[in-house]
Amino acid sequence: MPGNLTLDALREAVDAGEIDTVIVAAIDMQGRLMGKRFHAAHFVDGGWRETHCCNYLLTVDMEMHTVPGYSTASWEKGYGDYTVKPDLSTLRRVPWLEGTALVLCDILDHLTHEEVPQSPRAILKRQVARARAMGFEPMMATELEFYVFENSYDALRDQGTGGLTPISAYNEDYHIFQTTKEEALMRSLRNGLYGSGIVVENTKGEADSGQAEINVRYTDALEMADAHVIIKNATKEIAHSIGKSVTFMAKYATEKAGSSSHVHQSLWTPDGAAAFHDPADAHGMSEVMKQYLAGQLAHARDLTLFLAPYVNSYKRFTVGLFAPTKAVWSRDNRTAGFRICGEGTKAVRVECRIGGSDLNPYLACAALLAAGLDGIEKKMDLEPELRGDMYHAEAAREIPKTLREAADLAKASDWLRAAFGAEVVDHYVHAARWEVSESERAVTDWDLRRGLERA
Ligand code: ADP
Repeated sequence: MPGNLTLDALREAVDAGEIDTVIVAAIDMQGRLMGKRFHAAHFVDGGWRETHCCNYLLTVDMEMHTVPGYSTASWEKGYGDYTVKPDLSTLRRVPWLEGTALVLCDILDHLTHEEVPQSPRAILKRQVARARAMGFEPMMATELEFYVFENSYDALRDQGTGGLTPISAYNEDYHIFQTTKEEALMRSLRNGLYGSGIVVENTKGEADSGQAEINVRYTDALEMADAHVIIKNATKEIAHSIGKSVTFMAKYATEKAGSSSHVHQSLWTPDGAAAFHDPADAHGMSEVMKQYLAGQLAHARDLTLFLAPYVNSYKRFTVGLFAPTKAVWSRDNRTAGFRICGEGTKAVRVECRIGGSDLNPYLACAALLAAGLDGIEKKMDLEPELRGDMYHAEAAREIPKTLREAADLAKASDWLRAAFGAEVVDHYVHAARWEVSESERAVTDWDLRRGLERA
């Protein structure tokens, strides 16, 4: 069970006075938890069946602006309701918030009670069902990097973001001493998540001052995406509780390393055999794995929109800072967009390194899975591996350079339209184009510094 509470166990905890609040949350286009806090007595009494939200939640941008031009919800349509249906298998304790439990929800059409196709959770569920129909259980792990700051969110709101102070003064990659200083946050995070049913493997310092990483045990794709959004929320909540802040932006400062969300992927059979493993192959990679990887390479450019959804995401793709710039594959090579890990073992897997920590995990996992499954269905041939420093491999397939380019590629992709449905692709392309137009309108501190005196 992905969560760690049944409805009956919650009832007992409510009766015993241990839990008084249930967070009932759906996931929006940005991968954020959006919902309501229920009094636990009302939740166990019947609130667990369903609740409602304004259907603008799957059309707003980061600022909650009512973005025009969507077919699903608009002022013309009067912004009606969606039904929000708790998935009770995700019900869990939230040890870092007093007396609180959490349940994640599906978003349904108010009248038909069908899942709304644009809902990120529905998009991933559809691809997982497709994998299962092909005889595979998709297993994933989405690593998360982020920066930790000494400042609280409230202080940053008052003083502006100019005075951001990273929690460490130096590159803390693998450092134990520096990360000891960060245990007020990281220990609470590991233990809190563990207590909510998320199997944390480890946390570590990352490759710039103030940067951290958290890894959790790979699990089925939907459970992983659910865990990912809870991890992000938990990190912010725990940081806030001790007067600090974190960011999951892909690139928060020009000179700093970007933050990634690498996606580890493997397919298994229902009886628990590793479908990616073939001991007879030189690298232990099965034919299924090679076709899966070939599909991801073939569609890498079309699906980048779902690995890098903002204008800022593309600023992470810089040479020499461990973020890839080329959508090619290589064994154990951190300069490639697709790295093979666990070579020759049952844990052999594809690590897609293109995604930033700002990705929506449901969309990223769904797009990668859809591409891999297409490779298997079409029995695609795997192109030769590239070796060496991929940053300077001239003829290699480029990751799109801007959100505008990624949106255009997604829009024109027949494969993506067939895999996700045209109405879903159009919806997310619209969101991306809105981001582009908003960013083009914005006057930034870069403009000001450059031009104020000298223009
Ligand atoms: P890295 O050096 O990139 O951090 P790790 O060995 O720590 O790599 O593993 C990263 C992630 O890969 C972990 O979250 C782990 O659970 C996951 N992982 C391990 N085996 C598999 C597998 N067969 N399929 C998918 N993910 C896996």
